[in-house]
Amino acid sequence: MNLNYSNRINKLPEYLFAEIDREIEKKRKNGIEVIDLSVGDPDLPTANNIVDALCDSARDPENHRYPSYRGMLEFRESVANFYKRRFNVRLNPEDEVIALIGSKEGIAHLPLAFINSGDSCLVPDPAYPVYKISAILADGNAIEMPLLEENEFRPDLNVIGRKDAKKAKIMFINYPNNPTTAIADKDFFREVVDFAIENEIIVCHDNAYSEITFDGYIAPSFLEVKNAKDIGIEFHSLSKTYNMTGWRIGFAVGNSDIIRGLGKVKENIDSGIFQAIQYAGVEALNSPESEIRDNVNIFKERRDLMVDGLNDIGFEVEKPKATFYLWFRIPNKFKNSIEFCRKLLKKAGVVMTPGSGFGKYGEGYVRLSITQPIEILERALERIKCKNILK
Ligand SMILES: *Cc1c(COP(=O)(O)O)cnc(C)c1O
Repeated sequence: MNLNYSNRINKLPEYLFAEIDREIEKKRKNGIEVIDLSVGDPDLPTANNIVDALCDSARDPENHRYPSYRGMLEFRESVANFYKRRFNVRLNPEDEVIALIGSKEGIAHLPLAFINSGDSCLVPDPAYPVYKISAILADGNAIEMPLLEENEFRPDLNVIGRKDAKKAKIMFINYPNNPTTAIADKDFFREVVDFAIENEIIVCHDNAYSEITFDGYIAPSFLEVKNAKDIGIEFHSLSKTYNMTGWRIGFAVGNSDIIRGLGKVKENIDSGIFQAIQYAGVEALNSPESEIRDNVNIFKERRDLMVDGLNDIGFEVEKPKATFYLWFRIPNKFKNSIEFCRKLLKKAGVVMTPGSGFGKYGEGYVRLSITQPIEILERALERIKCKNILK
């Protein structure tokens, strides 16, 4: 049988790192330790009280049945309480909150509810790849909004053409930002709200890193801005805040019509999150602020070590105010970010992510993730230094 993928699968962005993957494989086979600083997956364990909540709930047969597709009321109430406590944003747990099997799931499904074939989504570039992919999987188009260093990696809404603005149905934004580590204030969110109201666009703000912030910076919610709830929702995740990437639990909050649309898709595709995981999520969302701070302090120590270390070697890296990434320019002598990463891997056995993997405007940069213990980060610095990558 001649098996062909659908056009939408064929349209997905090309995977750029096959060669780097082969090189990693080869080194590992030869017994050479590869230090992987490419993945945004915390090495720190989930807190014990959260694991205990899962274990206790898993023993209760009440939780062995199909969950509700939009999440248990108890979970949605904890989300609403978290938003009130943390952002002073009021949410009705009845219809303004939906549980997700990780925020990635919700992001990927949202366009299915609102995009018809040929409609457009405005997506940042560079970006978390799922925004663009979700548009393509819904048979829509992605219109890139360049995130440029001169604009502090925020999209310039004034350069979006009238036609594109009118054609677009959804805009994705994400601050604190992956991969650029940029932050945005409420003035920027206000601009986005005005633009979205004028052009009748749904705004999806991805706030996955709101709690991973440093040096006194406190990240806002998009929903803190007046009228934001008229046109938008915010995706949020327990993955990064509570070291729970493997658990697959997140949520979306905001405009009830948009939430209902997302719910319609989910109702017909998945049947919600295992209730024991939702109880663990409730436990996580009720964690004392100090627990999150202790976690963030570990990332801060690593950030300082890596930024200072790389600058000593001769790179130019700034200390990010948020996220567990560093984003910096590759040295001039390299042709592009893939070539830099290939050299780095070959000479020093250290893996970083080429900026071009996040979109064409990511070219010229590299992303490094500090989700490794301090000893490993020190070893990575040591190797980069002694192998003289910059020479
Ligand atoms: C990690 C990440 C997510 C996904 O988180 P899950 O809830 O684990 O699916 C979403 N957006 C961004 C920008 C991320 O970096």
